[in-house]
Formats: sequence, structure tokens, C-alpha cells
Amino acid sequence: MNVKGFVPCTMHPNCFAYQNGGCSILKNTNFRKGCPFFKTQAQFDEDRARYGGEKPDPEEQEEEIA
Ligand code: SF4
Repeated sequence: MNVKGFVPCTMHPNCFAYQNGGCSILKNTNFRKGCPFFKTQAQFDEDRARYGGEKPDPEEQEEEIA
């Protein structure tokens, strides 16, 4: 784990979940053929607009991580 408590992700730094060298949503990133959860931020925003869901409050997330 890195300093923020995220497991490392070396596959997709352009992923919506990528933060500080790690994955902010998964607890295990050991995939044989690449991560099946990869999405760009644009793809993620498009899916959220299509299927609903609230945009998380970044300040609230920081409190959960700390
Ligand atoms: S969802 Fe997958 S590709 Fe995206 S940051 Fe996490 S491990 Fe990396």
C-alpha cells in the first residue's frame, strides 16, 4: 500500500479511480490480463449520467481516507 492507503496501480494512470499512484476503489489490483474495472473519467461521468448516482463530495472522501 502507498502512503494514502491505496493499493498500487501501474496499469492505467488515466483511470477515474487512480489517485496518488494507487487505486481508490479496489483492495486488490493483481489481475492477470489487466484491470476489468478500468474507465477513463469521461467514461465514468457518462455512465453516471446514464445510470444515475450522486457525485461524491471530495472533502467527504478525504475524511474517509484519513
Ligand atoms: S480501477 Fe483498475 S485501472 Fe482503475 S485505478 Fe483501480 S486498479 Fe487501476
